[in-house]
Amino acid sequence: MTQIKTFYFNDLRECTYLLWDETGEAVIVDPGCHSDSEKDRLVKFVESNNLVPVKILQTHGHFDHIMGNAFVSKKWNLRTYIHPADKPQLERAKQYTEMFGYTIDEPSTDTIDLIDGGLVQFGNTTLNVIHTPGHTRGGVCFYSQQEGNKFVLTGDTLFAGSIGRTDLPGGDYDELMESLLSKLVVIGNEYRVLPGHGPETSIGEELRSNPFLRYE
Ligand SMILES: [Zn+2]
Ligand SMILES: [Zn+2]
Repeated sequence: MTQIKTFYFNDLRECTYLLWDETGEAVIVDPGCHSDSEKDRLVKFVESNNLVPVKILQTHGHFDHIMGNAFVSKKWNLRTYIHPADKPQLERAKQYTEMFGYTIDEPSTDTIDLIDGGLVQFGNTTLNVIHTPGHTRGGVCFYSQQEGNKFVLTGDTLFAGSIGRTDLPGGDYDELMESLLSKLVVIGNEYRVLPGHGPETSIGEELRSNPFLRYE
């Protein structure tokens, strides 16, 4: 059974997720740790639970989701899985992050492409990949179809009560609505939603109450 730990990192309170299962293998989704104390919290959690991180998964390439990528990838010798359309943001992460007044190490660009309908595996866990452009061109969601433990990591595509902004470069409102309504919410009401910011929710709850999720 896959377990999940949420960390809130950096000034943007970005959600970094650590996923692992009974094998001890783990993946780190959107490593946003920036300060030394944030990095320490992540390392201590991994070490005290005897976990072995094997991959970095990126829901998208925005700097708040990537700030800890270089640290994490060096610490555990990990490669990053990212959609090719967001790879330019990873390649220029240092420069972009400096525009917001933060300094980070340059992430490795030796990445593995995520594709729509693809699978990511670690331990006994399989995650499905959905390409959900609209917040960024290469945004993806990861979901697990495990019976009794269904969840989806939505990055900045879907939040509790809100949706991702589309006014940044690569953003497109119509594309985001298409991703949300015809690719994401159709996976099923029972899925826990673990977003890139803010509290967790579920697909069912968002379909009931999220004012942005409207079919026109
Ligand atoms: Zn974002
Ligand atoms: Zn974000």
